[in-house]
Amino acid sequence: MAAIRYITNHIPKDTPQNRRPEYRMAPTTLTIHNTGNPTSSAAGERNWLTNPANLRQASFHIAVDELGAIECIPLNENAWHAGDGSGVNSGNRTSIGVEICESGNYAKTLDNAVELIAQMLKDRGWGVDRLRRHFDWSGKICPRLMYDDGKWTGWHTFKARVAAKLNEGKAEVSDMKIDKANVKVNGKDAKDGVIIDGSVYVPLRDISERIGATITWDNKAKLATITTKEAK
Ligand SMILES: [Zn+2]
Repeated sequence: MAAIRYITNHIPKDTPQNRRPEYRMAPTTLTIHNTGNPTSSAAGERNWLTNPANLRQASFHIAVDELGAIECIPLNENAWHAGDGSGVNSGNRTSIGVEICESGNYAKTLDNAVELIAQMLKDRGWGVDRLRRHFDWSGKICPRLMYDDGKWTGWHTFKARVAAKLNEGKAEVSDMKIDKANVKVNGKDAKDGVIIDGSVYVPLRDISERIGATITWDNKAKLATITTKEAK
């Protein structure tokens, strides 16, 4: 995965309008937004959070644009981005909010967003089932550039791109044809094997014991040793 530029520039704890309330958060999902502002960059979104002219409470964790990502609130604290209140199970209290900027080269911004989100999922051992739209929490049409007149084509495409990125490097395995093999030893069913590229692979211990051999496993050496009765 190609790393994108990632800047941490947290807003102060005493930022007005309670934008950084410091509720502790153990996030369980990532929520995707568009900024709704066709001219604002990630740096602009970050600066707006501390602009005295901003009288709204809304906040978010990360803004991403064509240049990279800026983290504005620590990811173990909540932000006000999901529009679903402050209950402990709300999106606002359980989800990391990522704003995708709409300005500049939006294709490049989307590329960066795919990289960022795939990396964040990978770091947490999560799949794309952990992704949410702002819409999923509050019904707001957001991320609006993925709405496509209610078909959400852009959203499904985005999730598919993130999934593909997560699977990079695993492609060789997933492209390999693997089938189940039924196995019998002396007429009795053994544990199933698998067929990979024309060879049948079986659980070695099960087969060894069924043919009366003893098997030992040296985990350090990653060595399985099979000994038949005749060899003892
Ligand atoms: Zn939103």
